[in-house]
Amino acid sequence: MRKKIVAGNWKMNTTRPDGIELAKAVAARAAEVPAGVGLIIAPPFTHLCGCGKALEGSKVELSAQNCADHAKGAYTGEISVDMLKAVGCQWTILGHSERRQYYGETDEKLVEKVKLALEAGLGVILCVGENLAERKAGKHLAICASQTEAVLKNFTAEDMKKIVIAYEPVWAIGTGETATPAQAEEIHAHIRKVLAGLFNQAVADDTTILYGGSCKPSNAKELFAQPDIDGGLIGGAALKADDFIQIALSF
Ligand code: PEP
Repeated sequence: MRKKIVAGNWKMNTTRPDGIELAKAVAARAAEVPAGVGLIIAPPFTHLCGCGKALEGSKVELSAQNCADHAKGAYTGEISVDMLKAVGCQWTILGHSERRQYYGETDEKLVEKVKLALEAGLGVILCVGENLAERKAGKHLAICASQTEAVLKNFTAEDMKKIVIAYEPVWAIGTGETATPAQAEEIHAHIRKVLAGLFNQAVADDTTILYGGSCKPSNAKELFAQPDIDGGLIGGAALKADDFIQIALSF
């Protein structure tokens, strides 16, 4: 049985004190969420240490939003996987569309980052998703397949035990426009087919695939009811503990 997960991507929001309060508020309500549903929060780098402490004793796991594509050295401004491990991260998000779009994240860089993250013992939430033009052109299945393959063809079935995929249509991120459950399910099922081809049916069946893009308490239930949607990567709604927990209670 694959794991259900609700992960919060805080992006570049909250100051450190506000972030620690938010982490505490999520931790305080985490016990309400059924044991089979994992909770993850991904605060900004500067908050990781304090948020990690705030999560102690709760089931909520800590994620970064990105990591460097080198292990260490002269890479000014970057944060390595070992640094993330040392402040208590269990996960990192990689390949978010905002990183791809604004910071030149290429599939080649992503392969290096995923390798480093796995070597360090971090789990990876790998994001894929088409933009509006690609969807309008009917290329959404092909784009999501090629983004998935470009990175994951470099990894093994064993590695996949530490990798979660997040399908995030770029046109639905932060726009208030959500993919319909049917639109999301179509892509999730397709990604699962891609995984079966790259690895085997067991990997396809066991990989957690999250939906992200304006997911909120009012639409989570319908999305999570789809057979191939195993939870959500939540942006805006993860900034309110009550909304985030409500989403996690939507299975
Ligand atoms: C995200 O950026 O990962 C995301 C899903 O954002 P939002 O929920 O705000 O659309």
